[in-house]
Amino acid sequence: MTKKQLALEVIERLKKEYPDADCTLDYDQAWKLLVSVRLAAQCTDERVNIIVEKLYERFPDVESLANADVDEIEAIVRPCGLGKSKARDISACMKILRDKYDCQIPKTFDELLALPGVGRKSANLIMGDVFGQPAIVTDTHCIRLTNRIGLVDGIKEPKKVEMALWKIIPPEEGSDFCHRLVYHGREVCTARTTPYCEKCCLADICKKRI
Ligand code: SF4
Repeated sequence: MTKKQLALEVIERLKKEYPDADCTLDYDQAWKLLVSVRLAAQCTDERVNIIVEKLYERFPDVESLANADVDEIEAIVRPCGLGKSKARDISACMKILRDKYDCQIPKTFDELLALPGVGRKSANLIMGDVFGQPAIVTDTHCIRLTNRIGLVDGIKEPKKVEMALWKIIPPEEGSDFCHRLVYHGREVCTARTTPYCEKCCLADICKKRI
């Protein structure tokens, strides 16, 4: 089986296993996803979903968050870790949205990437989830699972994994595929325990089956 064939088979099986998989960060407006992805660095999505509720109670829109005192933002987001740098990035980001984009989020990958604290993973997540564009989100689950399954070989650097996956994943499948990898990575192909290969829907085609 070529890597492309393997990728298509994995995509189909994960679709059956997790038909409704979507982003595990809660948001109802695009700019809120931008805030959440910054807070999610080295923090669980569950915790981020709780903290942002408090943040939006105090600062309900781009304008109020852009005008907020950075220390006040930091005090709220501190439980997500890296409070100082996250608060600084969120503040700078919201100011740019207010001043340059009429309080909306930019629509191109490169413009998103230019925002403070936004890396390729976050920009891809937003392109896929907000704009329905092709996206490959190389988070920790994606990198671990694609290596184990054999879709990539010994590549750990996120951008290199992303580039390798672009060659074998149909673009329109990328965003949902990455969401499903998160679900599978949490429930079956786990990081902190031995993966549960005996109950894995990919067991017969996975390179690393244990
Ligand atoms: S067979 Fe095992 S290593 Fe492979 S994807 Fe499934 S759980 Fe992970």
